[in-house]
Amino acid sequence: MLASDAATPGRSRKGITRTVSYARSIAYSRPAMGDQNTTLERVRRLVERLAPTPVCDECIADRIDDAHLEEVRPCTQELTAERGFVRDNDACGLCGERHTVIRKHR
Ligand SMILES: [Zn+2]
Repeated sequence: MLASDAATPGRSRKGITRTVSYARSIAYSRPAMGDQNTTLERVRRLVERLAPTPVCDECIADRIDDAHLEEVRPCTQELTAERGFVRDNDACGLCGERHTVIRKHR
């Protein structure tokens, strides 16, 4: 890339812009490819597996390895924005305590 920029100085700006946007597309596509292992995906799978039982953030954090409540909470909030997921104040199906829970409708 550097060699071709030097050979055609008039097009170097365009070349750099293209390089940056290419790097950006990689940066954005990588997390998507590793989707299966993100905390969000693990939270989603857990809630789907338990559906239609409501489950609280604390129980989700308990059941996902290496996930802390601070990581789980934004994930359940994000899931609530998706179709089928509902956030509610109800008795958790796992610990039985009244919490803010998330459930998926079947
Ligand atoms: Zn619970």
